[in-house]
Amino acid sequence: MRILLVEDNPEVGRQVSESLENALYVVDIAEDGREAQFLGETEPYDLIVLDLGLPSIDGLSVLRAWREAGNQVPVLILTSRNTWREKVIGLRAGADDYLAKPFEMEELLARVEALLRRSMGHAETILSCCRIELDTTTNRVTLDGRPVSLTAYEYRTLDYLMRNQGKTVSKTELTEHIYHQDFDLDSNVIEVLVNRLRQKLGPEIIETRRGLGYCMGNPDHAA
Ligand code: CA
Repeated sequence: MRILLVEDNPEVGRQVSESLENALYVVDIAEDGREAQFLGETEPYDLIVLDLGLPSIDGLSVLRAWREAGNQVPVLILTSRNTWREKVIGLRAGADDYLAKPFEMEELLARVEALLRRSMGHAETILSCCRIELDTTTNRVTLDGRPVSLTAYEYRTLDYLMRNQGKTVSKTELTEHIYHQDFDLDSNVIEVLVNRLRQKLGPEIIETRRGLGYCMGNPDHAA
């Protein structure tokens, strides 16, 4: 899952992005409103964490511009002044949730997880498919109840496919959701990652759809 973090305070930005990366999200950072608006318009983020007080264009205007353009990405706003008015204005501008500074990193992570679940139609924190379970809060993966050790990129690949069960996911789409914005889209690393997941979890677990991409949990091929 790939997140855009919009924060002009470098120290806060560093702390938040480190915590998100530790939770195995891929994070791009924008430090001003103009850059944030551009990235939100051009990159397919799974979620955006948006500070409201920003240079060049303020966060509320950026959010309104995205929503007016039809961008439905889940947005969590960071409000510096903990007033009810700012929260109401933010929610009415199209934010999905808010957090007032200063905040506990655990709460930010919990809210991010909850927003991602809601946006993709999952109620449970544990995703399951055939014999695999993936715990989105602890990042643990099990096969038949036994822990499986995955690299960060293997985990991100599995996480994205499991959140999109039953759908065909192209290599480009996978790349865009597990790597940062400057990643070379022509690389065949996705094939390598999928093959490693098949070695660790079973060859049948990820189906290849020739010329289209990959699919997990296809109801036509139930195990
Ligand atoms: Ca700020």
